Order: sequence, then structure tokens, then C-alpha cells
Amino acid sequence: MSTIRELGHFVDGKSVEGASGHFGQVYDPNTGAVQARVALADQAETEAAIASAQAAQPGWAAWNPQRRARVLLKFLQLIESERDELAKLLSSEHGKTLADAQGDIQRGLEVVEFAAGIPHLLKGEFTGSAGTGIDTHSLRQPLGVVAGISPFNFPAMVPLWQLAPSIACGNAFVLKPSERDPSVPLRIAELFLEAGLPPGVLNVVNGAHTAVNTLLADPRVAAVGFVGSTPVAEHVYQTASAGGKRAQCFGGAKNHMVIMPDADLDAAVEALLGAGYGSAGERCMAISVAVPVGKATGDALVAKLLERAKSLKVGHSFDESADYGPLIGPDALERVRGYIDVGVQEGAQLVLDGRGLSLAGHENGFFLGPCLFDHVTAQMRIYREEIFGPVLSVVRVDDYESALRLPSEHEFGNGVSIFTRSGDVARDFTDRVQVGMVGVNVAIPVPVSYHVFGGWKRSGFGDLGQHGPDSIRFNTKTKTVTSRWSEGGGAAARTGGPAASSFVIPTMQ
Ligand code: NAD
Repeated sequence: MSTIRELGHFVDGKSVEGASGHFGQVYDPNTGAVQARVALADQAETEAAIASAQAAQPGWAAWNPQRRARVLLKFLQLIESERDELAKLLSSEHGKTLADAQGDIQRGLEVVEFAAGIPHLLKGEFTGSAGTGIDTHSLRQPLGVVAGISPFNFPAMVPLWQLAPSIACGNAFVLKPSERDPSVPLRIAELFLEAGLPPGVLNVVNGAHTAVNTLLADPRVAAVGFVGSTPVAEHVYQTASAGGKRAQCFGGAKNHMVIMPDADLDAAVEALLGAGYGSAGERCMAISVAVPVGKATGDALVAKLLERAKSLKVGHSFDESADYGPLIGPDALERVRGYIDVGVQEGAQLVLDGRGLSLAGHENGFFLGPCLFDHVTAQMRIYREEIFGPVLSVVRVDDYESALRLPSEHEFGNGVSIFTRSGDVARDFTDRVQVGMVGVNVAIPVPVSYHVFGGWKRSGFGDLGQHGPDSIRFNTKTKTVTSRWSEGGGAAARTGGPAASSFVIPTMQ
């Protein structure tokens, strides 16, 4: 008989059992079985984590930045020896393939590497002799306690994006990961402790809306980062902002790929397969809409896409030959299947229907074969709403301007890409499209860790993006110091001239 693991919290440098009496279920999406139960924190448990962070923060902030960076570097070393194991754990709870799980971890670690440059990143600005005898400089100081709320679909990457720059800046952190795949975030916290992070600087509270709402209501939390679906992102942003907290909240997406008549069609098709169906479409940067320009492009694209999509292998997430694995849970499977019904009712042409897929030996797993809709229109729900599954919609347009309008006018504005051989078209598209992250002949334009990641419109609430320079801005407040040390010293003292009065307001001319 298989035993069910119990997952609790990580507070004040220790693993803590849940005390609320409430639990969530963690599935093995490959089999459909419950493999663990996770404690859902109540208000008191969440407040204990905030208190621990608040107590630890001043001491941590007093460490010089280089010393703090060494903890991040040590963490990078420690995680290296158990990456394969961690990828397996991630894959077993999420259902993404081992290769995708490795990518999830890798993308997270790249932000830890970026944050390890904190001695350089925190340097303020300085102007000597801004006025007579006056210097001005700025300091970037930590905010205090920062909270991060993360989604199920990147259980390593998103927590690391949220927490690494934050603690590097001298904040203490409370992470509320997704209750659907909480094991990797817990292990990350343990590894940080092992790397020398003082207890309390990084706490992990598992839970659902009670934990989130406690973080939002608590005045000791200075800032909140959220990544998840748009309705919750909006709720978190509005509540946090109304409470005077700094907030950055990233939501859902509907990412388009425009395929111009001059595009390398084979490259575009291969890109669509990976970006549309990879990780079962459970990526915020997944391409869910293909926009071929012109009838000939549309016909050729759909023909090639159909042929290639049919050959995709859906399998157990540990099967190295599988292109993608199961969806995260029964609710996700039901929701995505529901959207396929909606698309059919709306009159879109379902040219590839993955609903019949059953994996021998894993009949209860949450698998769905690749689905392809042709002749989708901008009015349909399957176009307007995020499906978050292995479902690709083709919206055919007659010309470039119509293609440009689709992503620009969509309520989401996370990512977009264009496939073309024309530099002129690519440049115009990049310039005018109303979307936060743009790819040119690149399917998933996730920026490197030292550039900013962030969607526009209802894909992102708040002014600052994730990682890159924005993450330092988000996690610090600027203090500007104007100082004069010329009185009784400097040139006047050396020449025996009069000292400036300390009561005169300095002019900067
Ligand atoms: P979700 O919104 O259901 O959950 C995200 C987090 O919010 C979880 O920690 C969850 O426990 C919490 N939560 C859920 N409902 C809540 C409520 N009513 N009140 C308070 N907290 C609540 O999202 P998900 O299903 O875990 O993740 C998938 C979504 O995340 C997709 O929409 C995807 O596009 C989005 N996403 C966006 C980005 C981005 O950068 N824009 C990145 C990854 C995922």
C-alpha cells in the first residue's frame, strides 16, 4: 500500500506541521492518485511566518551585500547535486516532462545567479559637488518583509524569481506557493538554510486563500508579488495597493504567433508545436493562437501543423520520449475539455481532437491529446479566454495590419511572436504591437534573467516587471541623501576663508 506524504510549512528555519486541520490534495497527475496532502495555513500560522520574517530582517539587512550574495552562490552549489532528484519531484507533482522540469529549475537558478550580483546591482547614484560643498547620493534600502504568491505551473522558477532578488536586497520573505505542487518550494527553503541563510529570512507557508488574505491584510508585509490567474492577480493587486503595500501581480495570457507569408514555415510549425503543446500548454508564455497571414499561408500552416501535431507523443512525465505529460489535476482536465466543447459549439473547426486519448496503464491520469482548432474568430470564447491546455487555435487573417491588431486589442498582453524573413515587418511589429514581450522568429520570448519579464494590460498589474533591473527596484526603496561637509573644512579652511553658514539653504546652481 502506498503511503501519502504529509507536507507542512517552513518557518523560522524549521519544518513545521500544519495546525489548521485543513489540507489540500497533491496528485500524481500521471496516475490520478493522491500522493500527498498539504497543510493549508490558517491566519495564526501565516502570522507566525510573518513574525519570524520581521524578526530576522534587520539582522539580515545588516549583512553587507557581498556576504548576502555568498549565501546565494552557496545555494547554487548545493542545488546542483540534487537537480535531477528535484526535477523528478517537480515532474511527479506537476506532470511536466523531466526535461521541462529541468528547464523550470534552470530558469529559476538563472535569476539566483543574477541576484548574486547584488553588490553591483544595489549601487546607488552619486553626484559630487551638486552645490557648493554639497554631494548628493542615493541608497537602495530593503523594504522589510516581502511576500510572494506563486502559481502551480512553475513551482521552482516563479518562487525563485520572487524570492532571490528580494532576499538579496536585504528583505525577509514569506512564500505562499501553489498548494497543488508544494514540495519543490519547501526543498528550496531547506537548501537556502543549508547555504547559510539565517532562520526566518525565508519562510514557506502552504495554503490557499486564507493564507493569501492574511498576507494581504498584515501591515508588517511591505510588498507582495503575485503570479497566477488574472482574477486573483487583480484581487491581490487591488487589496495590497489599498493597504498601502507595493504590489506586482502577473496574470493570465493569450499569446499569439503571427506567421507572415514569407516566414520559414517549417520553423514556425516546429516552434508552434513546442510553444503550443509543450508542458501540456500550461505555460503563461505558451502560444495558444496562431495567426497565419493570407489564405495560402493559412492552408499550408494548418496542413503541416496537423500532420506534426498528430505525431506528438503524450506520455508519463518520466518517459523521456514523451513530448508532454498530463495536466495538473482533474479540475484542469475538466476545464480544458469544457473549452473544447465550447469551441465546437461556437463553430470553430476542431481538426484535431485529443479528447479520446487514453494512456495504456495510466487510464486515470489527467492526459489530453493535442487539439487544433481552425477558423477560430476573435469573437469566440476559445479565443478571448485563457484555456491553459494543449489546445491551439488558428485565427486566419488577410493582411498584416489585421494580424497586428489581434494581439494588440486582446485583453491580455503577455507575449507575442512573429515569424517573417522581413526585417522591415519585424521592426514595425516590434514597435507597434501592444504586448509586453515580443519574439521575432522565436516562439517563447521569455527574456534572459538580467532583462525584465512582464506582461501588459490584464496580464500584469503594477508598474514593475519581474527579474532584471525591475526586480531590484521592486524590492528596494530609494533614499536620497544631500550632504555638506564643507563647513570649517575644505578649501575655505585651508585658505583661512570664512566658513559657510549652516543655516543657508544650499542652491544647486
Ligand atoms: P491561480 O490564480 O489559481 O493561483 C495562483 C496562486 O493564488 C496560488 O498560490 C493559489 O493558492 C492562490 N489563489 C488561488 N485562488 C485564490 C483566491 N481566490 N484568493 C487568494 N489566493 C488565491 O493560478 P494557477 O492556476 O496556480 O496558475 C495558472 C495561472 O497563472 C494561469 O492563468 C497562467 O497564465 C498564470 N501565470 C502567469 C504568469 C505570468 O508571468 N504572467 C506566469 C505563470 C503563470
